[in-house]
Amino acid sequence: MARAILLTCPVCDATLAIPGDRDDHARPALLEAAADHLAAHDLRESALAIRKHEIASTAQERLLPADDLDDLPTDRWAVPAPA
Ligand SMILES: [Zn+2]
Repeated sequence: MARAILLTCPVCDATLAIPGDRDDHARPALLEAAADHLAAHDLRESALAIRKHEIASTAQERLLPADDLDDLPTDRWAVPAPA
C-alpha cells in the first residue's frame, strides 16, 4: 500500500497527488504546491491567498494500492477527464 496526499484546485478541479503522508508533507509544502498551480489562474493576490489555503485545508490523505498511485497525477496538476 502507498500513501498520498491529494490536492484539488477549487478553481478548475485539477488534482495533484503527492506521494507520502502528512508526516512527510507539512502544511507549508502543501501551500507551496498549491501556489505553484494557482499561478496559472492569474488571480488577484487576495484571492490567490484564500485559494491557496483552501487547497491545503481540503487536502485528503489517501491509502491506496501502489499500482493505483501510478494512475494519479504525481508529477503535475491534471484536470480529470470528463466522465
Ligand atoms: Zn486550477
